[in-house]
Amino acid sequence: MAEALQPILEHMWFYPPDSTPETTQPGVGIITTTNATILVDAGNGPRHARQIRTALRQMDAPPVQYVLYTHHHWDHTFGGQVWTGSLIAAHDQCRALLLDRYGSHPWNAHAIQEQASLNPARAPVLRAIDRAVDDWSTFRLALPHITFSHRMILEVDDLTLTLEHIGGQHAADSMIIHAGSVLFLGDCYYPPPHLRQPGDTPDYAMMEMLLEHPVEIYIDAHHGPMSRTDLEQRLTHR
Ligand SMILES: [Zn+2]
Repeated sequence: MAEALQPILEHMWFYPPDSTPETTQPGVGIITTTNATILVDAGNGPRHARQIRTALRQMDAPPVQYVLYTHHHWDHTFGGQVWTGSLIAAHDQCRALLLDRYGSHPWNAHAIQEQASLNPARAPVLRAIDRAVDDWSTFRLALPHITFSHRMILEVDDLTLTLEHIGGQHAADSMIIHAGSVLFLGDCYYPPPHLRQPGDTPDYAMMEMLLEHPVEIYIDAHHGPMSRTDLEQRLTHR
């Protein structure tokens, strides 16, 4: 539903994350120009991506020209196949990480069940992946078309986006995206998901570094937009 979109600025929205515990479904950034739509992340599977596509149609958004993968994790990339005709941009390492992490698995319900029984620690994630993809027979990984190593400027009509590699513990290929007074963060300061322990804390040093960017709104993929003050408070109350 288009009503679900959270407005950020003129020409910028956030399709909010689903906070149901069993669903790993981050939010997706939407930026429009006169002729194009740019997405920040692809949706966690084809169904999620199609829901976003419906919202875009309802708001008469221009065609999706670019999809920016903030990092390779499945919940940010497995919707990629829906965005045919658009160019996927990501950090240099994203392509190899996607292939290494997800490209070698035979993805179907049976294989997922088998992997879950071999590796019980990974079972909840595998179940979430299986829930996000309705039909494994038509699923395919959508790999980046354009990659960069340190920083890339993307100019679309009158919009300038700066994609900047930030790396960190969560994912080696994490990037942040500057769009005017807004900074899209992906999951960059979250603990690494495969090593998650009770009591894990965000990467506070990275949060401090993010505050050095002259922006007013920070958009964290699983929590949504926050002001500079919100981010400062998270650091003060650590
Ligand atoms: Zn992630």
